[in-house]
Amino acid sequence: MTWLDTLADKALDRELPTRQEALAVLASGDDELLDVVAAAFRVRCRFFGRRVKLNYLVNIKSGLCPEDCFYCSQRVGSAADVLKYTWLKTDEVVASAAAGVAGGARRVCLVASGRGPTDRDVDRVCDTVAAVRARHPDVEVCACLGLLTDGQAERLRAAGTTAYNHNLNTSGGHYADICSTHEYADRVSTVTVAKEAGLSPCSGLIAGLGETDEDLVDVAFALRSLEPDSVPVNFLVPFEGTPLAGQWNLTPQRCLRILAMVRFVCPDAEVRLGAGREIHLRTLQPLALHVVSSIFLGDYLTSEGQPGRADLAMIADAGFTVEGAPAAPAAAAPAATAPATPRPDLVHIRRRGPGTSLPANT
Ligand code: SF4
Repeated sequence: MTWLDTLADKALDRELPTRQEALAVLASGDDELLDVVAAAFRVRCRFFGRRVKLNYLVNIKSGLCPEDCFYCSQRVGSAADVLKYTWLKTDEVVASAAAGVAGGARRVCLVASGRGPTDRDVDRVCDTVAAVRARHPDVEVCACLGLLTDGQAERLRAAGTTAYNHNLNTSGGHYADICSTHEYADRVSTVTVAKEAGLSPCSGLIAGLGETDEDLVDVAFALRSLEPDSVPVNFLVPFEGTPLAGQWNLTPQRCLRILAMVRFVCPDAEVRLGAGREIHLRTLQPLALHVVSSIFLGDYLTSEGQPGRADLAMIADAGFTVEGAPAAPAAAAPAATAPATPRPDLVHIRRRGPGTSLPANT
């Protein structure tokens, strides 16, 4: 029995790996990469079969954030040429959500820039959530509005919100290196508050922020202790005009090791492949489906993903099925309704990679 067999067996029993085991996954060599993916696949398969859940992002308020998260194109002082707008109207959100649902999304994620919502903002989002749920009663709605204050989580839950996303992003020890306007503890607190209000907790990380392997293991263990239902793993999109512009610290192989480590630490959580997958995993994206059980369909908040149709084709080609989709005959073409039209407000990143910087606008 290999060390990876042991690790997978522990994960199948929902047993936490040791720090040394988690670090060993990150330190493993390229010759072991497929063994790492295969071990993580055993765990993924046990808890999620071959299903891939699709999530669809709607940026309901964009840019002009007073916070200074160093990785974020919407931060205060950001020179990234992303679209800036205040709250979308409910009918605009409903129309956007409908495009994602038509493409196969089972969860719509309503994301707003900002430190956190006012009570009036929460009223507005509650109305929007209710409208989306009325049109798509079987679709989950996740809100991502920043730090929550007293009673806001309960009101979101009462309006029909399924989940709340608030990422820890990095370890507590590294947090001051990626943000100075709020603290790691603030983020932990909001995840806890959301969970206590009955919202499904969604919290994850961003890799590529200059963190060490120890930081990655720390944040994965911290996430496990919060017991999130879903764990998005994002890879830094190093926007020009942000302090982390030009930071290309990831390889496709490292991305797979990070995903596998998170899978072993959070074996039965919906590990979700997030932003940056196209530019960092590149042609290895399909391998990542053997580790994660969920992806975002199409575009991200301020950067372009691969077209939704390509996502569906990738899932089908890799032998996975979209959660909630009717069984399709083998080799059937992916649904033609997947969002495919590039949004002009997004920074286009598909052909970018190490050695290049992301333009402020293209
Ligand atoms: S709080 Fe959110 S929107 Fe604002 S800078 Fe940080 S990550 Fe970006």
